[in-house]
Amino acid sequence: MARSYVASTSQSSARKTRKCNCGQQAKLWTSRTTKNPDRLFFCCPNSMDPSKKDCGYFKWVDDDSPTQWYDDSPTQWYKDKVDELHKENTELYKKNMELVMENMELQKKVMKLEAFNKKNLIDLFTVKVMLFGIVLVYIFIRLLVS
Ligand SMILES: [Zn+2]
Repeated sequence: MARSYVASTSQSSARKTRKCNCGQQAKLWTSRTTKNPDRLFFCCPNSMDPSKKDCGYFKWVDDDSPTQWYDDSPTQWYKDKVDELHKENTELYKKNMELVMENMELQKKVMKLEAFNKKNLIDLFTVKVMLFGIVLVYIFIRLLVS
């Protein structure tokens, strides 16, 4: 997959987009090792100058997937960061909505319990009134009898 991508990209455009870790134009070199003969690679331009600090940047030209390709660009990094934050924000929004729904559910439950309590209080009141009535009737009958 990586190879097919590089094959469709001209090397001049590869040279344009390549930047090393210290932000310089990465240098294109050809490997002469026996393990990787005539293989193109990018590295920090400072790596060939002993008086300067090499940032350690190294990449084979034919070893890039499209995502790695754009990983080097700071704008892509910011875009990814923004996407990440946007995702996080969406997640938090979802969680917030869930909490709002949960809160509504709990409020409903509280209202139900309050209604239940009220009903029980009314029932108790009715029982008390009835008992009082019975006692009154009893006293009335006793008075009549005596
Ligand atoms: Zn560098």
